[in-house]
Amino acid sequence: MFSLAGKSVVVTGGSKGIGRGIASVFAAAGANVAVAARSTADIDAAVSALDGVGEGAVIGVAADVSDPDSCRAMAAAVVDAFGGIDVLCANAGIFPEAPLATMTPEELAQVLDVNVKGNVFAVQACLPWLIASGRGRVILTSSITGPITGFPGWSHYGASKAAQLGFMRTAAIELAPQAITVNAILPGNILTEGLADMGDDYLAGMARVIPAGALGTPADIGHLAAFLATDEAAYITGQAIAVDGGQVLPESPDAVAP
Ligand code: NAP
Repeated sequence: MFSLAGKSVVVTGGSKGIGRGIASVFAAAGANVAVAARSTADIDAAVSALDGVGEGAVIGVAADVSDPDSCRAMAAAVVDAFGGIDVLCANAGIFPEAPLATMTPEELAQVLDVNVKGNVFAVQACLPWLIASGRGRVILTSSITGPITGFPGWSHYGASKAAQLGFMRTAAIELAPQAITVNAILPGNILTEGLADMGDDYLAGMARVIPAGALGTPADIGHLAAFLATDEAAYITGQAIAVDGGQVLPESPDAVAP
């Protein structure tokens, strides 16, 4: 049960943070993993760290998901290396702050280009091979921010993360006849390098409002992604699943047990 050995997996945004956690879980499970991102230095560092974690191969691919040609080149490079694509983890995303009153059209476009169009372009580029796989899997990294919650300064981001779910639902219907499932993970606050830089006080304050009492880890997201990629998850599609330690549940901070 639950084997991912030999599967060909693409993780966009796999060089850092949550994507690197996802890539690490798939690598440990024996999959062949392609780490895709823009910075080749970060890709190289991730590939070195993941090398030897599991039985499968790990490669790096430079790609910008907001560019459809770049996504097609990414898919071609993965197929060259691994012979096909079974799983796409469309995880790459950006979250620059921009208060609504001062947000520029360019700031809005940039977030939608990467977070929304980037999902669509990556799926389109990988689709011929996901179909050929006979059990293709698409796993989107959305967020609790947008689909469930809001946060001042991130209205464009929240809109993009909710838009991913709209895309997911119709993609799941369109691709079901080809035995491809499309699901989304909604992370809560996950302890990535970027968040760690915010300092201990900030992190402790965040942990206090999470019923589980701690931030999540990139591997927490990777474990759900890995399950959704298994043959056993073939009947789960079009679902948005929060992985947040219960963060969205309290009515107020007082509702969290001390
Ligand atoms: P991160 O540490 O900043 O990593 C982002 C990754 O995406 C990097 O590998 C980055 O590499 C890549 N990337 C950014 N723009 C790209 C583009 N145009 N094309 C290809 N790759 C691109 O971010 P993270 O916190 O792990 O977030 C990953 C995903 O989780 C995002 O979709 C985010 O919205 C979601 N999320 C995060 C949290 C959290 O607490 N961290 C919570 C909820 C949801 P390059 O810059 O080199 O391209």
